[in-house]
Amino acid sequence: MGTIAGLIVALSGVGMVSANVLPWEPSDPASVVPATSQGSSSPMTPEPSPSPVPPLLRSVVEEVPSASGELRVVEGDGEVVGEGTLLRYLVEVEEGLPGDPADFAAAVEHVLSDPRSWTHDGTLAFQRVDEEPVDFRVTLASPETVDQQCAPLQTNGYVSCFSGERAMINQNRWVSGVPHFDGDLETYRAYVINHEVGHALGYGHVDCPAPGEPAPVMQQQTFGLQGCEKNGWVSP
Ligand SMILES: [Zn+2]
Repeated sequence: MGTIAGLIVALSGVGMVSANVLPWEPSDPASVVPATSQGSSSPMTPEPSPSPVPPLLRSVVEEVPSASGELRVVEGDGEVVGEGTLLRYLVEVEEGLPGDPADFAAAVEHVLSDPRSWTHDGTLAFQRVDEEPVDFRVTLASPETVDQQCAPLQTNGYVSCFSGERAMINQNRWVSGVPHFDGDLETYRAYVINHEVGHALGYGHVDCPAPGEPAPVMQQQTFGLQGCEKNGWVSP
C-alpha cells in the first residue's frame, strides 16, 4: 500500500473560463453521435441531431469545492465495443454537481468506445452497464469527494486518481482542463478518462519519450507535458 506513484504540488489557476450552463437537452446515450465536422459540402442532413455539441464538450459548467458526497449510478447500457476480453464498467456522478450526469456518461462512453482507446489492439472490449458486476467504475465527483476517495493519495483538490475500482474524475478538471492544454478541453477530457481507466487496467505512469512526441496517455499530463505534445489517446 502507499505505493501509488507521484503526487506533485497542485498547479494554481485554471486555463479556461468556464462557460455558463448550456441549455443542453439530454439525449438518448445510444443515439447517433453528431459529427464534429462534415467532410462533404453537401447540405444534406440525414437525421435531426439532438445537439450540435460534441459529447466531449457538453456540461461545461462551473467549478465547485464540494457537493453532496453521494454517488449515483447513471442509468443506461451501451453496446459491446472491441474484440477482446469483455470488461464491464459503470458511470457514477456525485449528486449535487452542476451539469447533467447523462452528459458525463455519454462522454465516458464516447471515449472508451473510440478505437484509439484501450480497445485499439483487439485484446479488450468494453461495455457500459448500470449494475454490478463491473470491472471498474468511472466517477465524476467534486474535489472534496475525490480527495476523500483517493486518500492516502493526495489529490489536493485538483487532480483525479484511480482508487479501488474507481476512476475518480475531479469535476473542476473536467470543466476547466489545465492551462497547458491551451483550451483544448476535448483532448483533456479524453486524456483524463483514458489515463484513469488505464490505471484500472493495471498500467502505471510513464514519462514523455522525447520532445515533440505525443504524450503517452499514462504520462501525468495534468502536471505538465515534459516537452511532449498533449494527447488524449492510447493509440493516437
Ligand atoms: Zn495516474
